[in-house]
Amino acid sequence: MKRKEQEPMHNHTTWRIGGPVDVMLQPETIEELQEALREAKTIGKPYYIIGAGSNLLVADEGLRATVIALGGALCKWSVSGNTITAEAGLPLPVLARKAARAGLSGLEFAAGIPGSVGGAVVMNAGAYQSQMSNVISEVLCCDQDGNLITLDNEACEFGYRNSRFKKDKSFIILSVTFCLQPGDAEAIEKQMGHNTAARIDKQPTSYPNAGSVFKNPHGDAAGRLIDQIGAKGWRQGDAMVSEKHANFIVNVGQATCADVLALIDRIKKTVLQETGITLEEEILYLHDENL
Ligand SMILES: Cc1cc2nc3c(=O)[nH]c(=O)nc-3n(C[C@H](O)[C@H](O)[C@H](O)COP(=O)(O)OP(=O)(O)OC[C@H]3O[C@@H](n4cnc5c(N)ncnc54)[C@H](O)[C@@H]3O)c2cc1C
Repeated sequence: MKRKEQEPMHNHTTWRIGGPVDVMLQPETIEELQEALREAKTIGKPYYIIGAGSNLLVADEGLRATVIALGGALCKWSVSGNTITAEAGLPLPVLARKAARAGLSGLEFAAGIPGSVGGAVVMNAGAYQSQMSNVISEVLCCDQDGNLITLDNEACEFGYRNSRFKKDKSFIILSVTFCLQPGDAEAIEKQMGHNTAARIDKQPTSYPNAGSVFKNPHGDAAGRLIDQIGAKGWRQGDAMVSEKHANFIVNVGQATCADVLALIDRIKKTVLQETGITLEEEILYLHDENL
């Protein structure tokens, strides 16, 4: 298992933002993950699990903590009939392609979401009228002492970009079993191609970002509201509201966490003033006080 000290978090977030974390542990297997949890306990500082870091905004001051980073490891998977079991670190787009090749439908929506399987379960990631909770049958977790627990779909308490795991950090996701529908591999791949093309068309792909910054308020789209207040192109330092999709804040150079927070604050205040709607962040802001 790799162990790094004062590792810059901007190397581990898709926004390319975040100061150094005291200790980073990078387990390669489930056994090493259990070992990492024991080590984190011995270190005695707060600890935090990250996947691909595609939904995270990390403080410029960094974190006086231990981060256990799963991105790029724990990537085993297997197919049995209509089910696929995947470890928590497997990139979601890879999982979607494996399902398509096995002629299994249900994960087409996930093709362009750059998270890990574990992070996508926590966030109940979704797109194109579907979401993780529609295809999950069970989640294998461990608690902080490494004890194994299996939760069925209902026990995961999924909601819109929400789950039990978001509220209760004592569960660490190890692997996930998906229940899918048999389908035609070519048709599934075609649908995934359409979804990916639509993303390239609508989303800013040339600058680092963390996807949608705000959740959609009931019956509306955050992007539409932000566009309506004329925020596209608003800039704070090197953070900018995307000209292509108003719900994305892009890092056009050396944006800081403070830059992004200032833009978020300005957008929320203006949307509230002009529409009466309070936007809620979808991205997760990590700093020492909330670990
Ligand atoms: C270009 C772009 C497009 C995006 N499009 C979409 C989209 O269409 N739909 C959508 O829903 N999201 C989208 N996102 C956001 C993001 O990809 C998802 O929220 C994704 O599910 C986050 O996964 P992650 O592995 O990056 O999690 P991280 O950002 O690393 O972590 C998210 C949360 O999960 C927790 N976590 C991660 N792994 C584990 C684990 N194994 N056990 C316990 N907790 C864990 C972390 O502690 C944290 O609380 C997009 C992001 C980008 C950059």
